[in-house]
Amino acid sequence: MDKNARIAIIGAGPAGLSAGMYLEKKGFFNYTIFEKEDHVGGKCHSPVYNGRRYEMGAIMGAPSYFAVHEVEEFCGITHDGPQLIRKYKDKDGREIDPFNPRKNPLQIPHMLKMKGQVKKLAELLETKYKGYDVNGHRGVAEGRYDGYAATASHEHVEGHNENLKDLCLPFKDFCALNDIELVQDIWVGPYTSFGYGYFDEIPAAYVLKYLDFATTMYFINLNLWTWKDGTQSIWEHLNAKLKHGARLNSDITHIERKDGTVTITVNGQQEVFDQLIVTSPLQYFGSYADIREDEKSHFDKIDYERYDVLAVETKPEDHPDISYYVFENMTPERRGHLMVYYNRWRDDVNQPITTYALRNHKDEKEIPYDVCKKTVLNDLKTMHNPASNVIKEQAWYYFPHIYSEDYKAGWYDEVEAMQGRYNTYYAGEVMSFGDMEETAEYSRDLVERFF
Ligand SMILES: Cc1cc2nc3c(=O)[nH]c(=O)nc-3n(C[C@H](O)[C@H](O)[C@H](O)COP(=O)(O)OP(=O)(O)OC[C@H]3O[C@@H](n4cnc5c(N)ncnc54)[C@H](O)[C@@H]3O)c2cc1C
Repeated sequence: MDKNARIAIIGAGPAGLSAGMYLEKKGFFNYTIFEKEDHVGGKCHSPVYNGRRYEMGAIMGAPSYFAVHEVEEFCGITHDGPQLIRKYKDKDGREIDPFNPRKNPLQIPHMLKMKGQVKKLAELLETKYKGYDVNGHRGVAEGRYDGYAATASHEHVEGHNENLKDLCLPFKDFCALNDIELVQDIWVGPYTSFGYGYFDEIPAAYVLKYLDFATTMYFINLNLWTWKDGTQSIWEHLNAKLKHGARLNSDITHIERKDGTVTITVNGQQEVFDQLIVTSPLQYFGSYADIREDEKSHFDKIDYERYDVLAVETKPEDHPDISYYVFENMTPERRGHLMVYYNRWRDDVNQPITTYALRNHKDEKEIPYDVCKKTVLNDLKTMHNPASNVIKEQAWYYFPHIYSEDYKAGWYDEVEAMQGRYNTYYAGEVMSFGDMEETAEYSRDLVERFF
């Protein structure tokens, strides 16, 4: 592609900003990033409270965050935030220690069985499911892999592996097929409680590409990264470092793709580009763009999670000592309940804690926002950490994804075949997974393939 191509990028979250970085690395400097909000970072959102930043969106990374690390190096920053430590409670607010054999001697046979199944999964992923962990979903439904490996080598790999078709199954069925049902008890912590849905509805590909074996072990062993000024600061640094920082408060009202150009009407003015990279939700692309039938028929199949975050104050005497996971609330039946609460600044009782709840499950009635909020505040009382005040709340458009039937029918390969068709490229969460690493890595892959 001509290095002077005029490239428009929609969205200044991790996907859009890292697309800018990778374009620069390849010598493309004629790009513009449009952001509708008055700040960058998207779902990496770290507001200030009493002189410190807390997290309303993304919280952590891991040593397997290779693309995020590339961003850190590009900006000269590092993960310098508070250490993450957690404990567990049951739904009635009693502290438990479910993985400690000394505390649960009767559970030792079950724990040994679980350990054996985790080991078995590790072996299966290395052998039967070789290629499972590459970024993106190209080829999976056809039994292929093609993308960047989630390893330190960070290299492009591709190959055939018919077994990868099993990744189209919901994770629960994938586990049953391989006789490793108990691994779900481990994976559920960093999966469902982080808002990514329930294992009976979400294709295994999403679960295992995000929680590849190494990343899961980092979660278990709490070898995790945080940032003192919040995850948003990563993207603020990147935005400042790029040749062209994002154009904030951009209100895009129309996009027309015709005769090899892309005309964007933004804040009432028309601007003309050669190429378009969309990192904003594809589900809503048709509300402002001249969406074509092939785009619409695919983007209509996307669903998302209703994931709510509250930032609350407590009285000093009610402040939790640490962060807590409530495993019993990570089931579809208990949707709308508190699954995790996060105490980021453990040295300061005047900082807020944040709470996390999921409200939806495929084909079931969604819990209304206000009901969920009330339930979560009640749950905090049950946990003996009642809130005195809600300081911020957010119902996120979270983890856009498709379901198993569409995954298996080739949704990803069809959308990948559409890349560039209308001078338009699709990136962001649904193309890979809803986390910082996968979205940044996918932007790398996209720029490498097409620019
Ligand atoms: C509560 C919560 C916890 C999370 N925890 C983690 C975590 O611990 N670790 C992790 O790696 N990830 C985590 N994530 C997920 C991570 O934040 C997202 O996956 C990541 O930010 C996605 O990047 P993105 O650029 O694809 O999308 P987004 O971050 O959603 O950014 C999209 C951007 O596009 C903009 N936009 C949308 N529409 C338009 C438009 N029409 N015109 C212009 N701009 C537009 C938006 O304003 C936004 O800035 C969490 C998210 C949330 C909400």
